[in-house]
Amino acid sequence: MQTHCCVEKDSLFLPPGGFQMLVRDLLLSVCLLGLLPCCASDAEVRTPAVLVIGIDGVRPDALQQADTPHLDRLAREGAVSWDAYAGGRAGEDQPTQQATSSGPGWSSILTGVWRDRHQVADNSFEGNNLEQYPHIFVRIREQRPEAMLASIVHWNPIHEHLLKPFPGAASFLVETETDQEVESGAVALLGEATPDVLFLHFDDVDHAGHAHGYSTQEPEYLASIEQVDEHVGRVLDALQARPSSAEEDWLILLTTDHGGRGTSHGGQSAEERTIWVIAHGRGVSSGVVSPGPGHTVIARSVLDHLKLEVPASWGLADQKPFADAAENVTEG
Ligand SMILES: [Zn+2]
Ligand SMILES: [Zn+2]
Repeated sequence: MQTHCCVEKDSLFLPPGGFQMLVRDLLLSVCLLGLLPCCASDAEVRTPAVLVIGIDGVRPDALQQADTPHLDRLAREGAVSWDAYAGGRAGEDQPTQQATSSGPGWSSILTGVWRDRHQVADNSFEGNNLEQYPHIFVRIREQRPEAMLASIVHWNPIHEHLLKPFPGAASFLVETETDQEVESGAVALLGEATPDVLFLHFDDVDHAGHAHGYSTQEPEYLASIEQVDEHVGRVLDALQARPSSAEEDWLILLTTDHGGRGTSHGGQSAEERTIWVIAHGRGVSSGVVSPGPGHTVIARSVLDHLKLEVPASWGLADQKPFADAAENVTEG
């Protein structure tokens, strides 16, 4: 008979209240000390899952200035970089340099490679090489045919070019007209299904940047970041409310595709290239990563959390997931 010492709530009589907690804590301590034949560790028995939240066109200085309690909490409890980068390695002689535009940006975030490989030069996606360097859902599907992979986006070309050419890669695709619909779709999905990976894309901050300017001095731009923080908060509430959340090991990754300068982006200025990355989850060390990685690190981090094999032939730009990068950093 197999002995379980990571006790299920109903599998053992325990007195109510604090004593119950004490008994369970004691049992856990005995487990950890190896004094009983034991089930796998807590981290190993939980099912890994990943929530990736992409927020279009958010400058890190504006995010830090805006009143964003939900994003602030994730950054404080998890790993954060305020000086990560979009646009590949800077320099005309650098093969990975790419426009700080949405097409190349989301392609890099979701494939884990830069323009030298995915060949997405601009928002037309013309001449792309996404067949050879596809969206991570295509990679995950190869190894996990049964995985539930969901994507809800406000900027529809992400689906049009990165997922729809690969039928069957995604389990669930929704294109929306508003950020509110992205939130509602995510809340509904998290209430009814069990995604292995859920990708969300919010677009309103980029609209505010184009309309009013990407700047810490623009109230409309800051207000749009505060608005998306509320969407993120309600998605996090839905994640927390899942009946099975105690058995799940969620990694939450957040980033943006580019910054902005004046009312546009696409160039190689620091204001357009400098971005932020946040990782939050049980296995993530808390701290500030500086200098930060390229936003290609998101793809690697998703694959790593799901414990997938990552062959060298996939050509990913990053060798380490962001959660590991945070291990050797000073407390922020
Ligand atoms: Zn964008
Ligand atoms: Zn834009």
